[in-house]
Amino acid sequence: MTDIRKFRSTTAATLLGAVLTLLPIDPSMAKTVGPPPPFAGWMAELRADASKMGISEATLKRALDGVKPIKRVIELDRRQPEFTLTLGSYFKRAITEKRIAKGREMLKTHRALLARVHKKYGVQPRFLVAFWGLESNFGQYTGVFPVVGALVTLSHDRRRARFFRQQLLAVLQLIDGGHFPAGVKGSWAGAMGNHQFIPTTYRDFAIDFDGDGKRDLWNSLPDIFASAANYLSRSGWDIDRTWGREVKLPKGFNIALTGEDTRKPLEEWRKLGVRRADGGVLPSLDIDASVMLPAGFQGPAFLAYRNYRTIMIWNRSHLYALAVGHLADRFTGKGRLVAKIAGDQPLSRAQILEMQRHLARRGFDPGVPDGRAGPKTRKAIRDFQKSVGLPADGYPSRRLVKRVVPK
Ligand code: CA
Repeated sequence: MTDIRKFRSTTAATLLGAVLTLLPIDPSMAKTVGPPPPFAGWMAELRADASKMGISEATLKRALDGVKPIKRVIELDRRQPEFTLTLGSYFKRAITEKRIAKGREMLKTHRALLARVHKKYGVQPRFLVAFWGLESNFGQYTGVFPVVGALVTLSHDRRRARFFRQQLLAVLQLIDGGHFPAGVKGSWAGAMGNHQFIPTTYRDFAIDFDGDGKRDLWNSLPDIFASAANYLSRSGWDIDRTWGREVKLPKGFNIALTGEDTRKPLEEWRKLGVRRADGGVLPSLDIDASVMLPAGFQGPAFLAYRNYRTIMIWNRSHLYALAVGHLADRFTGKGRLVAKIAGDQPLSRAQILEMQRHLARRGFDPGVPDGRAGPKTRKAIRDFQKSVGLPADGYPSRRLVKRVVPK
């Protein structure tokens, strides 16, 4: 998930912004978000709630006295990227030669430690390092915002108040428990440490692997790697299996079978003619997989295994899951994607909004038009494509927009 004062354009920062837009906005607030309540009264109520949870007055004083909403946090939260992220634009930022080289170096440097973590949690080193590279550029950027201040700001603001209040109370509890100081720093949305854990993830999954009594996700690599591995393991990581792979679909493949909702045993995909990207036969593994077309039917195709779905528990973004998987592959010497990423021009929010309105007008249900091609919109696109005999990939390409929106 999960960064940024002067709006540094680090990859982690931009990727984090992408993640944030995926957090649910309270439905009741989606249309009309009123102004936040008066701050002093709101703060008194928050303190009372925290106190009821058993957080000490001394901690509340230390953590909350003098804290005020941070304007920059609101600006960053309100920032709406003009264009959608596409597989091509995302990979350009996430999968760089520099990052691949650094990841390989880190795998060598920390080989013994990563092997110990692998043995205990079953998560392969290449994945732990791929998450690390994407989340904080291998620990170089873990965020500069005071986490308490950022979370106070976002829970006082009303757009995602419920989610951020839960995070704020969790961080206050952790401060109360002596896990980190009241001035702990993180992303503008409260994600912390080398793997950018939000407070509830830290609370539930962080591990003291070096045995010094602290769960230190900033300075202790044993704690950092073990915590990420523990989180993945407990989110269903399929031990020692990979994430998926790029594949080649046969001519005439039924595009309606693509998407995360359709899962079939690998064997069945093989019978349907799905091959490795290089044309070779799929491995014979007893696992279920989905076929994904993240850039539409003209772009690369992937088989997504269980670990792809586990990566999406960490961060509910298909592009993120593909980036983690592909980066991990590149660390171990696998090549670039075989298929070209074509027809991948980003759409503007305005274009998507217009498409959503026209889909609705034509009797399809894209959800509340919001300028983002979320799951409902993609479903509506598929339904539209089926109705006019187009390959039903659910992908909002420019060509599709032209078909939906009358001139
Ligand atoms: Ca420790």
